[in-house]
This record gives sequence, structure tokens and C-alpha cells, in this order.
Amino acid sequence: CGIIGIVSRDPVAERLVDALKRLEYRGYDSAGVATIEDGRLTRLRAEGKLVNLQNKLKAEPRSGTTGIGHTRWATHGAPTEGNAHPHFSGGVGVVHNGIIENFAEIKRELAAEGVSFETQTDTEVVVQLLAKLRKEGLSHRHAMQAMLERVTGAYALAVIFEDLPATIMGARNGPPLAIGAGEGEMFLGSDAIALSPFTDEVRYLEDGDWVVLTGSDAEIMDGEGQPVDRPIIRATGKA
Ligand code: GLU
Repeated sequence: CGIIGIVSRDPVAERLVDALKRLEYRGYDSAGVATIEDGRLTRLRAEGKLVNLQNKLKAEPRSGTTGIGHTRWATHGAPTEGNAHPHFSGGVGVVHNGIIENFAEIKRELAAEGVSFETQTDTEVVVQLLAKLRKEGLSHRHAMQAMLERVTGAYALAVIFEDLPATIMGARNGPPLAIGAGEGEMFLGSDAIALSPFTDEVRYLEDGDWVVLTGSDAEIMDGEGQPVDRPIIRATGKA
């Protein structure tokens, strides 16, 4: 029910969890973070309160400088660690707020092609679709675009690829998704509150928008793939 993503030069895992704390008010039943470490995706997930995730992170610190985090309010699939986001497949990692309405149809189709599913979530079709499209040779961006053309429903999404370091892709259709610009680092999150300690330079994606976020840039595209600009909202009220 809350999303966060950070592209930085410093390790991000602890700040991801801190940001998730600021999204706690939205409610959740489990949580998780994923980072890219030496070209490999790694994740920690836990049922229940964020303190459970924090304790795991204490025991297994993460050094990745690009990462995504999620608090989940389960809609499809029990609130277990196995169903907690981030979901991984084929070097792709995904967190999602909302509901993928045509997940059953996509799941049937992918299963018929031999894809095996690891969770009971609607979200897993997003990561399995991206993994399949990448395997078929599509670029990261084209895979993202093709995935977005296929899924219907409500979503805020954040995606990382283990072979695309220092980049996060995001998309919005329904649940809010904010982009924040810092000094040499960039952020995305469910609202400006999540990003408030990091930056007061925030813009909101509009429905149908998607974004490619690097440490220095946020390239926003509309549903047709055309570059668009969205206004900066200064959280502090500065003009
Ligand atoms: N529908 C997804 C799930 O059940 C995401 C729920 C959420 O917004 O947290 O896993």
C-alpha cells in the first residue's frame, strides 16, 4: 500500500525502510525492500510490522545504492512473506500498489507458455511479463512499455533490472506516484510525505505516465510514450 524507490551513490536500504515508516499511516500487513548489489537483485521481506523488516536488515545489512521498497495491503494472496513484494523473476524486481484487473488472463497465458508462478498475487504477472519480454530481446524501456500496454487496472509501480544499475522505472494509473529530485540522487514514492526528508522538489505522475529515473534525471513519458513535463510542487510551500 506504499511504494518507495531511491537511486543514489550511497547505500539505500535503511532510507527505504525509513520512508516506508512515513507511509505506515496508509495501512499494511507486510513489507519488503530490494536492492541491486554487484549486478544481482537481493531482497528482504517480512510479515507484520516494519520493525520485523528492520531487524532483518540489521542482521543482513545491504550495500546496494539503487533500491525499491513496499508496504503491502494484500488484495490477492494471503499476507505471507512469500506473497510480500518486491517480486522477482529473471533479473527483474517489482513493487506494486493497487490491483491488476486482468491478471488471471495474463497468468493463464504465461502459464501455458511454461512460466511458473511463485506467488498468489495479481502483481506477479507484471514481473513475469517483464522477464519474458526481456528474454525475448526487448530493451528495458520497450519491455516496460509493452508490459504497460498489456496490464489493466489500478497501479503505482516501481521496477528495477539487475542488468540496468542506477535506474528505476515507475508507472502510475490510479494510486499516486511522486518523483523527487535530490543532489545526485532521485526518488519516487507514494506521496510527498514519504519523500519529505530527501527533497522538497516533487512532481506527481499523471494517470498513464511512466518514468525512467536515474541518479540525475527523471524522464517522464505519457501513455503514448511521448516525453512530458509535470509541474514541480514544492512541499515546503516555496514557489
Ligand atoms: N494487489 C497487490 C497485492 O495484493 C498489491 C496490494 C497493495 O496495494 O499493497 O499484492
